[in-house]
Amino acid sequence: MIHIRNMNKWFGDFQVLKDISLDIAEGERLVICGPSGSGKSTLIRCMNGLERHHAGKIEIAGNPISTDGKSLAKIRKSTGMVFQQFNLYPHLTILENCVLAPMWVHKTTRKQAEETAFRYLERVNITAQAHKYPHQLSGGQQQRAAIARTLCISPKIMLFDEPTSALDPEMIKEVLDVMVDLARENITMICVTHEMGFARRVADRMVFMDQGEIVETATPDAFFDAPQSERSKAFLAKVF
Ligand code: ATP
Ligand code: MG
Repeated sequence: MIHIRNMNKWFGDFQVLKDISLDIAEGERLVICGPSGSGKSTLIRCMNGLERHHAGKIEIAGNPISTDGKSLAKIRKSTGMVFQQFNLYPHLTILENCVLAPMWVHKTTRKQAEETAFRYLERVNITAQAHKYPHQLSGGQQQRAAIARTLCISPKIMLFDEPTSALDPEMIKEVLDVMVDLARENITMICVTHEMGFARRVADRMVFMDQGEIVETATPDAFFDAPQSERSKAFLAKVF
């Protein structure tokens, strides 16, 4: 589904991603972890072209992302992303947030888009908030709305960048529960998170990054019980 070969990226003189190679199968649930600044956000932002890579190859479902940023429309149509800050449009109601992309990008009728929106709002348990504006919702509700909005485009791939790290502890669980529920489906899920309990529960594979490199790739059991590198051992000792 996602095929990355020898990918490199620089911010000016600073090499943020170093020779990244990674293959992610359709339906796979991958959790990426690693210290702050190790390049996790940059890596997943490269996967939907929010950041441009400079060398190497990225292919999403057979479509190459070119280094000049062309060919992105198709990839973005099938890739949803959920951010740490919920990124809902503040001047639109939750329902309008949900129907926007389906209507304008996917050319769905309003009726159809609203039906789909309500289906996903119900799934994340916030139908009662459909006609409110984002600032009238709690953080957990906003993040669930952001997830519902992303699901409305029927993505084949969902990218999550620390979706719970801006939330108060009591709201983390409600968002993680939604993500656990999603993980049962055949959506390819790539999730940057420090929620190691979640990772252990849903991940098919863990990727550990440090200083722009993929240092270790392993099943959750192998990664948590017997990390191989000194860097992952040090990281896990800090997280737990
Ligand atoms: P965190 O866990 O704190 O979110 P991260 O692993 O997601 O960290 P990135 O956000 O990918 O890390 O950043 C990797 C490195 O690239 C950092 O050193 C960061 O300062 C640098 N960086 C990120 N974005 C830019 C940018 N737009 N311009 C210059 N440097 C950047
Ligand atoms: Mg980050």
